Amino acid sequence: MQTSTPLCAIALSLALGMAALPAQAAPQATSTPDTASVQMQHIRNATTKIDYAGKTFLVDPFLAKKDTYPGFEGTFRSHLRNPTVELPIPVEDVVKGVDAVIVTHTHLDHWDGDKHQQLPRGTPLFVQNDADAKIIRAQGFTDVRVMGENTEFEGMRLTKTGGQHGTDEMYANRQLAEGLGAAMGVVFQAPNSPTVYLAGDTIWRNEVDQSLARFKPDVILLNAGEARMLGFAGSIIMSKDDVLRAYKAAPNATILAVHMDAINHMALSRKDLREYVEQNGMQDRVRIPADGEVLKF
Ligand SMILES: [Zn+2]
Repeated sequence: MQTSTPLCAIALSLALGMAALPAQAAPQATSTPDTASVQMQHIRNATTKIDYAGKTFLVDPFLAKKDTYPGFEGTFRSHLRNPTVELPIPVEDVVKGVDAVIVTHTHLDHWDGDKHQQLPRGTPLFVQNDADAKIIRAQGFTDVRVMGENTEFEGMRLTKTGGQHGTDEMYANRQLAEGLGAAMGVVFQAPNSPTVYLAGDTIWRNEVDQSLARFKPDVILLNAGEARMLGFAGSIIMSKDDVLRAYKAAPNATILAVHMDAINHMALSRKDLREYVEQNGMQDRVRIPADGEVLKF
């Protein structure tokens, strides 16, 4: 177990929002059939641009340049700085054409604070609860909405889903539980569109099984980088085993595995996951997008 001091530091370092600046790197793209009605561009970490039912969402914008922040204290490889890689496209292109933003929770690697200059302050922005709404309104955003069951937006339905951002053992530690906090998932539904389930920062829990059973998603986005805390067994997000679990639990769904190779405490790399996917014969329905890669469904 950790002493209290690093745990406090974890809470602070996970929650602290600081400056984000533009970054440059080569874009990558792949193409699949034109009949697709959902497009996703994996940007970096959990940041994803989703074109859904005619609208463009930006999920969990973490837009900082490489090495902007210290590693999360008390976590695996905390000597590394975050993010560990640059954005694949200029930040102006990340925010271009965005109709709404979804912030699954306000940890630094999903929302790096009040310096998102490129996002217009009036952009509709969905959050998980009043606490996160308060944080983001204080940063100047004027149209912050708390997502719930059956949240309507431009003819589509958005539903907040549950989970837990770590193990029961971690949440039994009050300070660590505060640091880890709550995080939501989101289900996108619209007439004649594939149903998309974004699980968010959660380990595999009953809530995940329930969401799969209830919504029968066509596309599942998993944060699969196996983020680890020092001194605790288990991960605070999903890992390769959970990719296999999703593959079996949702036999018709395409699974996108993200949240790898960008933050210090990820114990699973894309390379390792790719090998695991091949070993388990999951290549037909599991995608591991590169930063900047575009996928259509
Ligand atoms: Zn995360």
